[in-house]
Amino acid sequence: MIKIDINDSTLKKLVDYHTNYIKNTVSENWNQIKGKTVAQKAVSQDEMNTIKDALNRKLAKNNNSHSDNILLENIADICTTKNLRKYAIESEDLFPAATERYVNILLEIIGYRKFNKGDVSGQYNNGTAWNRHTFVQSLNVRVCPYCNRQYITSFYKNGDRKLTTADVDHYYPKTQYPLLSMNFFNMIPSCFICNSGLKGRKKLKLNDMTLNPFFDDSDSLFFQINNDELGELYSFRNSDIKISTIVNKAKSNESQKRAEKSIEIFYLPEIYNAHVEDARTIKENINHFSRYYFENVFQRNYQELFNDYEDFEKTIFHFNDLNDGDEPLVKFKKDIYRQLNIGSTTV
Ligand SMILES: [Zn+2]
Repeated sequence: MIKIDINDSTLKKLVDYHTNYIKNTVSENWNQIKGKTVAQKAVSQDEMNTIKDALNRKLAKNNNSHSDNILLENIADICTTKNLRKYAIESEDLFPAATERYVNILLEIIGYRKFNKGDVSGQYNNGTAWNRHTFVQSLNVRVCPYCNRQYITSFYKNGDRKLTTADVDHYYPKTQYPLLSMNFFNMIPSCFICNSGLKGRKKLKLNDMTLNPFFDDSDSLFFQINNDELGELYSFRNSDIKISTIVNKAKSNESQKRAEKSIEIFYLPEIYNAHVEDARTIKENINHFSRYYFENVFQRNYQELFNDYEDFEKTIFHFNDLNDGDEPLVKFKKDIYRQLNIGSTTV
């Protein structure tokens, strides 16, 4: 997992866009929901009252349960808070009965479907709509934060509905935790494989959550080759080496638990076994392009090319100078390099 790298002032600006969007669309959705068909059945006034009561009674700061409308300030707070867990717990028993029906209506009111479709006029950069696509683009995430193996950059042609864009994974699944369906920090740009293929519709328990790329650090887990298999790196290619994904024991217990869950849900060791040969290439380069080689062979023949060994090293192991999210596999390569490079400067 790699952390989504976004500075505070940009984040604040984006959260403001999101707050405005929520206030405008939720009030519009609320006024239009009566009689609207949701899951083949029109929404009744009774159902609206049940939802209004549940939201206002449970979530109102002022406990204003007699209000005729749902309280927009509260919904905006729910959609921008970093305290996801609080509302995940509230989601669990928000409706005493007919839960699925109410989840569907709530999803229409809070509005993920509209946000996902993207055809709402809005106020984001020069009047472009604030929607799933602009949200993902504004976060500037190039590589899937969960697996770090796929580019999730996007391309959009104005007026053309064909576009490539990232998936948005709901960290707390929206059908289980509908209150969080539009929470800014609950929407993780990710690749299709991690979102639909691996996480899919798995039911997650509150104490069973994975790492969240908005909050957890990239060093919550790291990759390595099993120590007793290191010798195999010198042998023929395709020998039996396994990549391990290790939880960082220096982190809090909660972080360790989430890291273990990420390893399990996203099958990280299994998936990274496809990259054993990348690890071998790193090992070969460490051995071959040593300081000894640089000083005694390379520099004697090509004196002009590099200032010093550090300069030379940066070219061979260019991934060490990249941010984890710049290219696929950067975090993996850095972790493996760190593991294998010990003692390599002595020849
Ligand atoms: Zn992925």
